[in-house]
Amino acid sequence: MKIAYQNVIWWFFFAVYNYMSLAQDEPLNVDVVGFFDEKNGLSEIAFQTAISNLNTMKDEIRFNPMSFVVNTTDSFENSKSLCDIVETSNVGGVFCPTSAKIAPIVESVGDNLNIPAIQVGWRPSATYTDILVNVYPVPTLLFQGLRAIVRNLQWRSIVVFYETAENLIRLQDILKTQDYNSGNKYNSLMLKELGPGPDYRSALKQIQNKSEYRIILDCKTENIVPILRQAKELKLLEPHFSYFLTSLDAHTVDLKVLNSSVNVTTVRIFEPESDNFKTAISNWNNYMKKMNIPGVGLDPYSVKTETALMHDSVHMFLKCITDLHATGKSVEPTKLSCENVDDKWVPGFDIASFMKAYTHETEGLYSITTPMKFDHLGRRTNFSIFVVEGNRDDVVAKWNPSDPDVLQFFKSEEDRNKELERKWSEGIVTVASILGPPYLMKKKPKSETDLLEGNNRYEGFSMDLIALLAKDLNIKFKFEVLESGQRGAYDKATKSWNGLVREILDRRAELAICDLTITPERREVVDFSTPFMRLGISILYKKAEAKEANMYAFLDPFSVKLWLYSATLYLGITVVLFFISRISPQDWENPHPCEQEPEELENIWDMKNCLWLTLGSIMNQGCDILPKGLAPRMAASMWWFFSIIVTNSYMANLAAFLTNERSQASINSAEDLAKQTKIKYGTLEGGSTQNFFRDSNYSLYQRMWTSMEQSKPSVFEKSNDDGVARVQNTKNRLYAFLMESSTLEYQIMTKCDLKQVGNWLDSKGYGIAMPLDYPHRSRINEALLRMQEKGEINRLKDKWWKEKRSEPPCPKEAEDQDANKLALQNVGGVFIVLGVGLALAYIVGILEFLWNVRSVSVDEHISYMQALKVELMFALDVRKTKKRAKPAVSESSSSSRSPSMARSFLQSAGSFLRLDKINQLETPGSSRHTSRPLE
Ligand code: ASP
Repeated sequence: MKIAYQNVIWWFFFAVYNYMSLAQDEPLNVDVVGFFDEKNGLSEIAFQTAISNLNTMKDEIRFNPMSFVVNTTDSFENSKSLCDIVETSNVGGVFCPTSAKIAPIVESVGDNLNIPAIQVGWRPSATYTDILVNVYPVPTLLFQGLRAIVRNLQWRSIVVFYETAENLIRLQDILKTQDYNSGNKYNSLMLKELGPGPDYRSALKQIQNKSEYRIILDCKTENIVPILRQAKELKLLEPHFSYFLTSLDAHTVDLKVLNSSVNVTTVRIFEPESDNFKTAISNWNNYMKKMNIPGVGLDPYSVKTETALMHDSVHMFLKCITDLHATGKSVEPTKLSCENVDDKWVPGFDIASFMKAYTHETEGLYSITTPMKFDHLGRRTNFSIFVVEGNRDDVVAKWNPSDPDVLQFFKSEEDRNKELERKWSEGIVTVASILGPPYLMKKKPKSETDLLEGNNRYEGFSMDLIALLAKDLNIKFKFEVLESGQRGAYDKATKSWNGLVREILDRRAELAICDLTITPERREVVDFSTPFMRLGISILYKKAEAKEANMYAFLDPFSVKLWLYSATLYLGITVVLFFISRISPQDWENPHPCEQEPEELENIWDMKNCLWLTLGSIMNQGCDILPKGLAPRMAASMWWFFSIIVTNSYMANLAAFLTNERSQASINSAEDLAKQTKIKYGTLEGGSTQNFFRDSNYSLYQRMWTSMEQSKPSVFEKSNDDGVARVQNTKNRLYAFLMESSTLEYQIMTKCDLKQVGNWLDSKGYGIAMPLDYPHRSRINEALLRMQEKGEINRLKDKWWKEKRSEPPCPKEAEDQDANKLALQNVGGVFIVLGVGLALAYIVGILEFLWNVRSVSVDEHISYMQALKVELMFALDVRKTKKRAKPAVSESSSSSRSPSMARSFLQSAGSFLRLDKINQLETPGSSRHTSRPLE
């Protein structure tokens, strides 16, 4: 009996031992709960697949996936079902998605009962409980990454479209993207709320015609296409627009439906081309096949971030529990009650802490989204952001929080450049320009049948320069001419640009070329190549008009009236002097001073002498005889006074009149222009020259600007050609045009009536305009430098400035010195007056001579011809310097010699001999006295 009793006890212990041993081999059952937004969604499949795969590998712990669909309308229902689950199951952890309906419930129940809660979605709240782990990248780091990417895009002016205020909070980091210069109106960050939709047009419209092409779109993934569709309707999806989509699921939408070549940059945190991802996809496909879930043959780009995170987080969680269990720590779950908050699952806290502290490197074997790392709060701090051009397969770079300022590009810079270059050379570059010689002109067809098309319609410096550039860069281009002829001015009222700058901003053209000046204002909205030509503002002015030479310019100082008055006065004063002298006793003088008591007195002031005196006075020559009486002297001195004033006025005026031509060219600089108001001056309207004066701080240019602005009619011209024509056509050279030296030089080369005045007022350059951050700018610059080095640009300038001119070039300017000299034409009249005067004198002399011959012939009783011969012979014999009082006549003729010989002798003795008396004394025999010319 005793043995039987002992055997029973032994068998009992043996059975217990066996039971215990068996019980120890039995795997530990851990229920893993997952909440999902939809049944059989990809996240649930990822959840189920990850657990079932792991179960096949581990046999110590058996994980039981329990998936539930979140009740999106009833939170209470969700909380009740979670409580039911924890009461009836051995829950080791709960996975919950982004759904706002369930996340707080899971968090609170988990916190109360110490059940680890694993979140796989965006979590804005900053409070983390001990048991909470969020596998979604921590927002601050995620947005730090997005900021680095945006910064790398080098956008200067950005519009951020966001859906709600919540998005704005998320975007805060991006908003700090660039160190914007607040004073710079073109380097801005604009925030626009899209509103709840579905109509986003009113928000989108706000950037229409605003020169804003860089857009960050922060919206729900499902709204991307509707928003972009509406943007397309508003022409905001043109190829020159660039969008950055912040959604990590942007790859799941099909942007091809937009049928647009807009630039889109997207981001995601996993790489669909990776091996782990491909394995995961195949596992999910197998699972779906096994479970008869429709949708086998998954498109890798349909996988959302949440699914990838679910896959990785389930693996991570199960691995943590297994590893913790392997350390000997209890991970055994129990049934718990929501009612009893003291009833906590003790290992739950250990598991959560283990997850946070764990270095999940081995996860690399299966992880789709880089191995996870958490901070002490349970926030994920390790992840990668992949930067994708487009939204699918063109992954260009990667960002990691460990190196927050660096974007690691997958292709080398050289490869990326080559790729860009290839794309560039495949397309056709549109070049905008305006017509204006010599930069671009319409080509004349060689014959009537010659049809000019495309680029062949135009020619000029710009065309040749772009053609050379295109050849160097291996690109094709087409020229588009802007009819408005505007280069680019900013209108403060409409806050918009016009002209070529507008063409670039609206991307109707990729490049713009003409005499387009690089200005700081334009540089803020478009980029420029290195300058290909240097120039400065200069003054275009008309040369002094070559007046018809006025030989009688010496008459100009006095008006005709004044000449007439002076002449009348001259005659008048002569008559007055004549009469005053006649009544002045002192002017009746003794004709024979030796005779003490003369019978007669004589007055020398006959008309001839009076005329001589007045003429001598006004000619500043004086006279050898002067009046003696008080009254004639007074009259003479008054006349002298008059003469001195009139003569000197004449002299002064004469100098001014003769140098008039030179004094016309008195504008030699901008200062000269500013000093006067008679000559108007202006610039091209809406060009950099006008802006130079408008914005100048220099007082001289400010004064000039005020004068230009106030001038009526306007002094500004629509084109350089108009300005040049105005200078040419304005009478009396009363208009000067301030224009750029390069074009001025071109104009004055053949328009010989024009000239450049003074030096450059500034120094600047022409450049090729292109959109901001144009990727080919450095290539263009390098090509331009190469061309400059080879002298090709100078050659082009020579070609269009000189060789291709049809008009003849102006002759070289006469030397300035010569120009300043008085020409013969200016004083020719004086020579004529002198000549005429001399001729008259000569005629009078001849007449006098002939008259005298007559007197001689009469006096000497010889024939007129005889007398003429004798007198002429004597006059022509220049050796004879003395003359007999009576002419020498031949003997034959002596008989006929006139008795008046003595008389003529006496006559020659002067007025003091009284001829009339001698005449009375004369007898007919007296003619015997003969004389001979002195030998
Ligand atoms: N080249 C100038 C411009 O680009 C035109 C001018 O003002 O003369 O605006």
